[in-house]
Amino acid sequence: MSSGYQHTLANTAICAGIGVHSGERARLTLKPAPVGTGIVFNRTDVAKGEGWIEARGDLVYDVALGTKLQNEHETTLSTVEHLLAAAYGLGVDNMIVEVDGPEVPIMDGSSALYTQLILRTGLKRQSSPARFLRILEPIEVRDGVKSAALLPTDDDAFHLDAVIDFDSSAIGRQRKCVTLTPESFASELAFARTFGFNRDIERLRSMGLGQGASMENAIAVEDDKILNPEGLRAEDEFISHKILDAVGDLSLIGYRLIGRYVSEQPGHSINNLLVRDVLNSPEKWELEAAPLKPAVMQFGAVAEAY
Ligand SMILES: [Zn+2]
Repeated sequence: MSSGYQHTLANTAICAGIGVHSGERARLTLKPAPVGTGIVFNRTDVAKGEGWIEARGDLVYDVALGTKLQNEHETTLSTVEHLLAAAYGLGVDNMIVEVDGPEVPIMDGSSALYTQLILRTGLKRQSSPARFLRILEPIEVRDGVKSAALLPTDDDAFHLDAVIDFDSSAIGRQRKCVTLTPESFASELAFARTFGFNRDIERLRSMGLGQGASMENAIAVEDDKILNPEGLRAEDEFISHKILDAVGDLSLIGYRLIGRYVSEQPGHSINNLLVRDVLNSPEKWELEAAPLKPAVMQFGAVAEAY
């Protein structure tokens, strides 16, 4: 955990890129926000007053191809998870994200560019303590071979432990455990790109989706082969991406987490089932304000190392 205080961005940051599904270019403006705001998206291309979409688990509308949010005006925003993962992973509690299209840009398919952008912009410590949700009793969801749980932990950390098992020998069975800190997020998770099977990408395209998908923003797997000429960025890139996705999806709980996420075959759908179960089971967790010890700002060190 960065420090006991809430944090926002030190400045406004801007970037642009294409949406993996729409293929359309969108521009993002990340802005500082007051204490207690949380992460809020604002679609600037829709009627005034209808573009405000809070990053909340109960507003998740579709999880088939990434995580999509929808507000009460039926304004939607797709592919929020990699940006949310970077914000949560680096300790941004409050931020407004303006976007002029229906989809958050995919960039290179990982959180690397959002991580660089946030680290370069810097964080600003705010006046109120961060709020933590501590898991007291196990919360577990299952869907066929997929499972995800949040379990209590003896320390004050958020741990993630996930296993994937694919028929393709290019992926196979992989497990990774991470204790989440800004440092571990930046060095062990942010780099990992999303991945897909070529046959699925062809099917998506025939449905008018995946228009922006390419080897510029995803690892393409065909049977037992990786098609990208540059190969993988690390041997554990696939499982690292699944953990990155889980960080983004679980950030929709709306608090910093103290507990252990354990999942077999994780995905956006099972993660959102878990998030909804958490929100509906307040007897299984408690909220804590962080003790306000003198802030240890490790942030500069992360920015330099990245
Ligand atoms: Zn992803």
